[in-house]
Amino acid sequence: MLRSADGQRLVERHGRSLALEAVRDGLERLRTTAAPFEHEAFFASCGAHLEQDARPGLLPVLNLTGTVLHTNLGRAWAAPEAIEAVAAVMGQPSNLEFDLGSGRRGERDSHVEKLLCRITGAEAATLVNNNAAAVLLTLTALAARREVIVSRGELIEIGGAFRMPDIMTRAGCRLREVGTTNRTHGHDYEEAISRSTAALMRVHPSNYQVEGFTATVDTRTLAGIAHAHDLPMLEDLGSGSLIDLAPFGLPHEPTPQEALADGADVVTFSGDKLLGGPQAGLIVGRKDLIDRIRRCPLKRALRLDKMTIAALEATLRLYLDPDRLRQRLPALRLLTRPRAEIHACALRLQPALAAVLGPRATVEVVECSSQIGSGSLPVDRLPSAALAIRFTGRGGGLDRLAARLRALPRPVIGRIHDQALLLDLRCLEADGEAALLAQLPQLSG
Ligand SMILES: *Cc1c(COP(=O)(O)O)cnc(C)c1O
Repeated sequence: MLRSADGQRLVERHGRSLALEAVRDGLERLRTTAAPFEHEAFFASCGAHLEQDARPGLLPVLNLTGTVLHTNLGRAWAAPEAIEAVAAVMGQPSNLEFDLGSGRRGERDSHVEKLLCRITGAEAATLVNNNAAAVLLTLTALAARREVIVSRGELIEIGGAFRMPDIMTRAGCRLREVGTTNRTHGHDYEEAISRSTAALMRVHPSNYQVEGFTATVDTRTLAGIAHAHDLPMLEDLGSGSLIDLAPFGLPHEPTPQEALADGADVVTFSGDKLLGGPQAGLIVGRKDLIDRIRRCPLKRALRLDKMTIAALEATLRLYLDPDRLRQRLPALRLLTRPRAEIHACALRLQPALAAVLGPRATVEVVECSSQIGSGSLPVDRLPSAALAIRFTGRGGGLDRLAARLRALPRPVIGRIHDQALLLDLRCLEADGEAALLAQLPQLSG
């Protein structure tokens, strides 16, 4: 079978081992279904199975969900500068832990630490795999076997089973809850401080809001209480934007700069949320505390890879030129994309999509709201435009269309809302639009 011309074509494309397996599987299918053997159809089917299996598991998609920093779709996209930096260190040796000045062993965090200190005003910084790891490491290094005081209003759960009380347990420290869900005061913390207290902690409630009769203790006040008792104050910011987002028309998100200026001693935040870089956990703050965190054995287990360090360094460098940041950092560009531009994209795509779906479907340009995502700023706020697809007549079809869009070579992910499949075009820039148009014909029929 493999020696036939069609067999040879499969061998050439996929290698002998996979081609052989595909032919054997194909013959097995024929035997179990007792179908007749037809040479051409047989090899076509083997080829199709091989192509299917050769498709990478992890592949680029078009995020038309309307959630910009979508955790399930990889959060922030890297800037071209970051992609280049990663490519440069991937395929050849680098000075990852080598000091080019002295010719001795170096520190992998050093490539990013100075930049991070310059941007945030911190004395020192260290890096781990993600922010969950940053919190775990910080608590382990600074508070193991002792108590950390946290407000009951801040005992958060982030998606994927990151729960503050569980992280505390894993870090070997005792959680001392104070206050109530809606109101916590300075004296609540003060009364809870004892000889076993290791730190006071604030956690940014990223993915929810408590409204109404509420009271929280701000960073400055909490740091004052902590310092009066000679204790460090820790702050988990979650997203932690490195710039004030308000001038861009986005809601203000607390920055590490502000937290440090207000007296927080250690601040943790994510690399791939509003910062717009690779997945990473950033820990900035007082030098003596960062040194203790760095020396903790867990740091070795949570350390960053060179690709991430390269991407993070290149991304942070973009922040040194704030005037061009919006243009160059995809996360910020997409979050601040003008509604008119998104609307124009919708108008361009509408006729093509309507033509391909035929008379059974209607395709309308509608206004909608995009979300920032990643647990940051939970409220719908970004005015955007979408294509709303509805099916006329009875029977759904929406789920089937959504599945066909997901099966395209560059899968298209939308969301179903109010009997319509919505394709929010905020995250569809020129190259994505071209990719979508090019594969639309595969939807017809
Ligand atoms: C997102 C978030 C985390 C977890 O960060 P990852 O980088 O996803 O690990 C922790 N704390 C807060 C407050 C967050 O918003």
